[in-house]
Amino acid sequence: MLDTPISQLHGVGKKRLEILLSMGIATFGDLLYTAPKKYRDLKNPDALFYAHHGEDVVIEATVKSHPLLRRTRRNFSTVTFLIDDGSCQGQVIYFNQPYMSKNILKDQKYIFIGRIDARSGTKQIVNPSLEKIHEDLGVKAYYPMGKGISQRAFRNLIQRALSETHGKVTDPLPTSFRSRYQLPEINYTLQHLHVPDSMDEAKQARARLAFEEMLYFMAALRSVREARKHIRGLAFHIKDDDRERFLSSLPFALTNAQQRTLHEIEQDLASGGVMNRLVQGDVGSGKTAVAMAALYYAKQNGTQAVMMAPTEILAKQHFDDLTAHLEPLGVRCAMLTGSTPAAEAKAIRYQIADGDVDVIVGTHALFQKGVHYKHLGLAITDEQHRFGVRQRAALQQKGQSPHLLVMSATPVPRTLALIIYGDLDVSIIDELPPGRKVVHTRLVSQDKRKAMYDYLHQQLLGGQQAYLVCPLVEESDKLDVLSATELYEELQKGIFSDIPMALVHGRMKEDEKQAAIQAFSQGKVKALVSTTVIEVGVNVPTATIMVIENAERFGLSQLHQLRGRVGRGRKQSWCFLSSKDAGELANQRLKIMAKENDGFKIAEKDLELRGPGEFLGTRQSGMIDGRVLAMMSDVKLIAKVRSAMDEITESPELQDEKDQIFAAAYSRYQSLINEIVLN
Ligand code: ADP
Ligand code: MG
Repeated sequence: MLDTPISQLHGVGKKRLEILLSMGIATFGDLLYTAPKKYRDLKNPDALFYAHHGEDVVIEATVKSHPLLRRTRRNFSTVTFLIDDGSCQGQVIYFNQPYMSKNILKDQKYIFIGRIDARSGTKQIVNPSLEKIHEDLGVKAYYPMGKGISQRAFRNLIQRALSETHGKVTDPLPTSFRSRYQLPEINYTLQHLHVPDSMDEAKQARARLAFEEMLYFMAALRSVREARKHIRGLAFHIKDDDRERFLSSLPFALTNAQQRTLHEIEQDLASGGVMNRLVQGDVGSGKTAVAMAALYYAKQNGTQAVMMAPTEILAKQHFDDLTAHLEPLGVRCAMLTGSTPAAEAKAIRYQIADGDVDVIVGTHALFQKGVHYKHLGLAITDEQHRFGVRQRAALQQKGQSPHLLVMSATPVPRTLALIIYGDLDVSIIDELPPGRKVVHTRLVSQDKRKAMYDYLHQQLLGGQQAYLVCPLVEESDKLDVLSATELYEELQKGIFSDIPMALVHGRMKEDEKQAAIQAFSQGKVKALVSTTVIEVGVNVPTATIMVIENAERFGLSQLHQLRGRVGRGRKQSWCFLSSKDAGELANQRLKIMAKENDGFKIAEKDLELRGPGEFLGTRQSGMIDGRVLAMMSDVKLIAKVRSAMDEITESPELQDEKDQIFAAAYSRYQSLINEIVLN
């Protein structure tokens, strides 16, 4: 029923069909699953007295004056009249709808639905839509639409589709399953989604559809994971000798969490299948050591391995690290990035193709055309949140199903993990190396800023090193933001004139950036002013102070990442969050930073404050289908779907339900699935 082409709906002609298709509506199902963007409850009007400027309202009021039509210019008119809803008087104004002066009758009651303009002092409703008072006033749905079709016309189409399909839609969710999770039946749901009797009914209908959509999405990812288990890969032989040799080359012993993770990786590598594993670990938890072990195993098994980083700075850092650790073990390392000089890049590409290098570190350049691997066995990407599902897939296309290890320092709340990482196996390094000191974090208000810089000055003279981070590169009068360049100049000419300083930001040339960071890392520079280019991965253990200007502008996990640049050595480290008063929410977030050091807990709080849609929308975009994202307004719902998912995949007696749901999921997310499961 839902698959019936929309052209067969009464009232859909050629022109309308075009408009509907452009909205992505090709079938009855597409039309009926179009969720309203908002509802207005006509039975429960607002009080005009309490309505404020800019608010969308429903006002039931009596017309108190004869509508006054004014034609001001050619083709321009207004109709105005007074209204009273019992709470106060106001005015309605229609622009360029002269016929309204005839439609509206004095002393009649109407419902006006529109937005309040209170700038003139009187409460005006501008171009409201209008309802006469009648018996069956209910909740009215408003749809997200572009040009070419009116709300009224769209509502009529929905109405027709509802009456033609009513009672005939087969519910894709099995009855037993629905009753277990208290989900309304589909015909009932669609009816109440579009024509609810109350806001509660609308909410319930939306929740059911959101549940369904999210369930399919999770099921799709889960089936990807299961399908991958059947893909044959390179079975690495992991010799005890190799493990011993690598571990004893490290200047420290692995933490328990690192050991557990390494063990999981070893099992994947040796399984005969293809590894698809995410390692999640807070900043400084020591993901690199674990990654290096895997790189070493790849080499010992006669294959090449790549390690991909999101920025050149980070790639260089990894390259230095890996060279220092792995070359002594006989691993030949090379680096390839976008700024590798052409001749050198060419030489490296030959080495890669001939198998003269074992481990290649780099950026996206590693996967450009013209790079051919002799035998790629393992691909590692660092800081996963910059790479979406699709990039991951492209990466795997490069070799004969290389093992994939994804490392992320962006802790994801448990509730969201299945949605974001549902197609991966996950290891969590939830333990920091011993002896790490908690970074002390302080909020610095504007009036304390000067004192903070004085203190900082003393510390720098005493030999400490500090990062000073700003949100933007250059001054912008639009955003009242202290830019890195500005801060650098201000300090260098002012109180830091006796301090060796450097500047690093995204618009500098790669080698200039490198030089600045190098100088900082060697201790020649004491204060490094930067934008967020240092957010990820930069490792200078001697730096002990982090100052973040305009901290209210950063997201919590970004602040956490930035703070993770200090506290890497033995000395006590400090983080100063300098901010203007930016409202309640921003303050709440900064207070969380001051109190909490655990990235997972910070992520949970961030999610709580911002809600899943925004939490994911801004940071993980590109990874999640827009339809799913739109549904994700409610963390509780996600948790509910998660447990439903666990239940159906784990209880054998739910096999039928599982099959049904997975089949539906498969048809809905076929293209996504095909994209992820390659080879
Ligand atoms: P991240 O997980 O943020 O990538 P790194 O791998 O860069 O963390 O490790 C951070 C620092 O901790 C590095 O200087 C590394 O040498 C050190 N480190 C890693 N594991 C251990 C350990 N088990 N014991 C002591 N130091 C460790
Ligand atoms: Mg790292």
